[in-house]
Amino acid sequence: MSGPRPVRAPRGTELSARGWQQEAALRMLQNNLDPEVAEHPDQLVVYGGTGKAARDWRSFDAMVRTLTTLKQDETMLVQSGKPVGVMQTHEWAPRVLIANSNLVGDWANWEEFRRLEALGLTMYGQMTAGSWIYIGTQGILQGTYETFAAVAAKRFGGTLAGTITLTAGLGGMGGAQPLAVTMNDGVALCIDCDPRAIERRIEHRYLDVRADSLQHALRLAVEARDQRKPLSIGLLGNAAELLPRMLAEGAPIDIVTDQTSAHDPLAYLPIGVDFDDMAAYAAEKPADFTQRARESMAQHVEAMVGFMDAGAEVFDYGNSIRGEAQLAGYQRAFAFPGFVPAYIRPLFAEGKGPFRWAALSGDARDIAATDKAILDLFPKNASLARWIKMAGERVHFQGLPARICWLGYGERDKAGERFNDMVADGTLRAPLAIGRDHLDCGSVASPYRETEAMKDGSDAIADWPLLNAMVNVASGASWVSLHHGGGVGMGRSLHAGQVTVADGTPPAGEKIRRVLTNDPGMGVIRHVDAGYERAEEVAAERGVRIPMREG
Ligand code: NAD
Repeated sequence: MSGPRPVRAPRGTELSARGWQQEAALRMLQNNLDPEVAEHPDQLVVYGGTGKAARDWRSFDAMVRTLTTLKQDETMLVQSGKPVGVMQTHEWAPRVLIANSNLVGDWANWEEFRRLEALGLTMYGQMTAGSWIYIGTQGILQGTYETFAAVAAKRFGGTLAGTITLTAGLGGMGGAQPLAVTMNDGVALCIDCDPRAIERRIEHRYLDVRADSLQHALRLAVEARDQRKPLSIGLLGNAAELLPRMLAEGAPIDIVTDQTSAHDPLAYLPIGVDFDDMAAYAAEKPADFTQRARESMAQHVEAMVGFMDAGAEVFDYGNSIRGEAQLAGYQRAFAFPGFVPAYIRPLFAEGKGPFRWAALSGDARDIAATDKAILDLFPKNASLARWIKMAGERVHFQGLPARICWLGYGERDKAGERFNDMVADGTLRAPLAIGRDHLDCGSVASPYRETEAMKDGSDAIADWPLLNAMVNVASGASWVSLHHGGGVGMGRSLHAGQVTVADGTPPAGEKIRRVLTNDPGMGVIRHVDAGYERAEEVAAERGVRIPMREG
């Protein structure tokens, strides 16, 4: 019987599989379950609640076995984490095709999913868990950095220097906020009710200091702001109590957001409840707790709206706090926007998104060499250069060394081709797996997040991720995935992913050029179709063909 055991991807140039395309899938599957990478590797859970890399250990073993023997003209089919077939295809076809967590519309809810999961028939693949391209917290840090860079570009002349950002939640993902703000040269004041969350972020060097009181925190923040010095400050307390107080006292805040775990009311501390009593109270009286948490969120959001009315830049960071506050009866909950329509959509319109790659050699020097290549290829992109330099200095690798950076249409293919040349000429010690998050410009339909408030109202149109997956298959990606429910849960999203391997061969170079052009190209055409002018400009400037604009 197969069961839990520590998993780690092999390093170096010795192949266990019959070629690098298969070897890459094998190593990335194993890497997702590396204890350095996965949250609960013994349960095959990689991240994002219950996002898994394989349905069960037998399926994991069968996938490893199959990938090891898979030929250059064969394709393994994976149905929600279980390998269900091997088909003869051809050398340009993906070596793996993956469909995770998909359910027919009327059945697409958590209750039905859990029933099927209990029967062993499906698995929650999240976004990059079940598609084998998760690279640890670096992915969250870069997205958060990019969001704050967009805030800086929109309102503060391209830098957060001289500004104070107020936020709450220093958990697994929210903990990236202080470092993302200081990387943009700003001051971050971050509230959390759990002292351990604050300590952990200081230990991992994501947070600089802890303040003793609200007054102390504000004094430190104002001093740093006046000297235009980056600083992040942790403050212990309940955001629902502190934000209204700070608003009433006229605290000089420029930007407000939130990453408490508001999407789950049982994980949000209500006003008047001690943090130490929170878990027992939530377990014993969930309905009562939910009601109080929602009422507190209404006060929290009302203060955020107050800061907005006072002139601050305010946005929801994808945790559903607006929806929960509205459920508690607060009418203006949606007065401020979500982060995608506010800052990320203009990037999506250019085909930009979270491009990433992993060094199959396991050697950090390969990532250092690719960092240099990126700086060399895009010398005029100051924000990208700042990220690459800081990531090189401050990001601790988890599992196989990897890098993420946002590149757009006309950029990703250049980077990919350069990487393939670097494998070919021996600059890199082994091939690279080049992929991206499913949270990308043209690969997701998710009306509460990535496609919230589309210009033409097409938020829930899910043809785009399907076309995206098909075009990547047709273009020569090494593996392609099509998932449901990632990020925001069952019934709320459909999304696709691709990974393409740079093994240094000429066919790999050809595939990379096509995939890394067409994949971000989907973002451009999706946004042209929805009526975004920037996407139209990009299409015209960079030669993306739009049939309805021709003839
Ligand atoms: P987490 O559970 O690890 O951390 C949440 C933190 O909030 C905890 O440290 C908790 O102590 C704190 N908290 C709870 N109630 C509080 C209160 N009243 N006052 C102050 N602190 C309080 O969660 P996480 O992984 O960090 O994610 C946080 C939220 O952000 C989730 O809802 C997640 O879905 C969302 N999120 C969205 C995106 C996105 O859309 N891009 C990215 C990351 C996270």
